[in-house]
Amino acid sequence: MPVTMEYDVTVIGAGIHGAGVAQAATAAGYKTLVLEQYLQAGSATSSRSSKLIHGGLRYLETAQFGLVWECLTERRRLLRNAPDLVQLVPFLIPVYKHTHRGPITIALGLMLYTILGGGGFKRIPKSQWGELDGVMSEGLKAVFQYYDAQTDDQVLTQAVLQSAQQLGAEVKLGCEFHSAQAGVNGCEVEFQHDGVSQKINTGVLINAAGPWVNRALEKIDPLPRRLDIDLVQGSHILIPGTLEHGVYYLEAPQDHRAVLVMPWDDAILIGTTETRYQGDPADVIPIESEIDYLLEVYNYYFSAAVTESQIISSFAGLRVLKREHSRIFHRSRETILHIDKKNCPRVLSIYGGKLSSYRATGAKVIRQIAHLLPERTRKADTRTLPLPT
Ligand SMILES: Cc1cc2nc3c(=O)[nH]c(=O)nc-3n(C[C@H](O)[C@H](O)[C@H](O)COP(=O)(O)OP(=O)(O)OC[C@H]3O[C@@H](n4cnc5c(N)ncnc54)[C@H](O)[C@@H]3O)c2cc1C
Repeated sequence: MPVTMEYDVTVIGAGIHGAGVAQAATAAGYKTLVLEQYLQAGSATSSRSSKLIHGGLRYLETAQFGLVWECLTERRRLLRNAPDLVQLVPFLIPVYKHTHRGPITIALGLMLYTILGGGGFKRIPKSQWGELDGVMSEGLKAVFQYYDAQTDDQVLTQAVLQSAQQLGAEVKLGCEFHSAQAGVNGCEVEFQHDGVSQKINTGVLINAAGPWVNRALEKIDPLPRRLDIDLVQGSHILIPGTLEHGVYYLEAPQDHRAVLVMPWDDAILIGTTETRYQGDPADVIPIESEIDYLLEVYNYYFSAAVTESQIISSFAGLRVLKREHSRIFHRSRETILHIDKKNCPRVLSIYGGKLSSYRATGAKVIRQIAHLLPERTRKADTRTLPLPT
């Protein structure tokens, strides 16, 4: 007897990737279920990012041109489809005598960013430097301005999930994926909802569990091949104050990494760090040395000296990066879609990725699994679909 599929697509995780896949799947006409262990969508990494919808100017240094182009294309779409959720803000890059990247390097980077869809840049005349939120003027050689976008990452995630629900997706919050029996024709999935164990059948299983990605794969029989990854935590601190002129893109004096000082919620958000993490993803919090590092960067560039006791709040999220020998800062930030075709051809895992390119990632996932699913009638095109506010 053939098994009846209750769902075409089942997604583990309602972070931005789970929400994006659910939106793409329902838009393509597939019957879709989302399982999320927390009571709110976007409670993990997707509420702890730097909250930027951007191409990632710094990825040009590592020649990740495809990633920058894709993210800038998605930025343009989000500005059109979700103007209440995603807004352009000015970014300022002060260049000092001591900074590693000089004015010519920055100008070349911004030219390339413009070509890839960044929307142009300019040099702020010296006569206006005094107006720039008290940023250090000693040794200042040039200040560049360009535009990128900010969003509330968790609100965006919830809007994308709501869009999926409007198209027919079923979402179970407070629901933990427990195990799956993966076959050649589909998967039998078991989960816990309200303390009750339930089973469903699905055509394909999408593992969008973020930093839990390999833990989710360990619950599948037969055991799929997993990628070797590092979890790298990035922390932010929120301090009192206001920034009138936008986001400051600074070079940390300690190690020359890019650190952002951003206006956020009538305060100032500073981030981020890169610290290897080995514990349970649910327990990640900023550590003392990260807080010191971020305060040092801020106090170096801005005249108002802020102490730890003034920090309003702090948070940390986990990047999922493929294990490589290169330094963390230089590792690829491309999203990896992984299927163990031999053992589990109907299980696809999403490793890493960007908030900014969630829609493109959802569309790529659907292109990869479409041949495994029955023909359905398309309901919408996510490239032009407005997000609910
Ligand atoms: C510090 C930092 C800053 C960043 N800044 C930016 C930025 O400014 N712009 C940008 O574009 N990108 C940024 N990123 C990248 C972006 O935030 C992430 O790629 C994205 O949020 C990851 O989303 P996700 O859905 O894969 O993971 P998550 O948001 O972590 O979602 C995974 C979900 O799966 C659920 N889950 C896991 N296991 C189970 C289970 N067994 N059962 C049910 N549910 C389960 C979890 O509860 C969670 O909700 C940043 C990342 C970090 C770490």
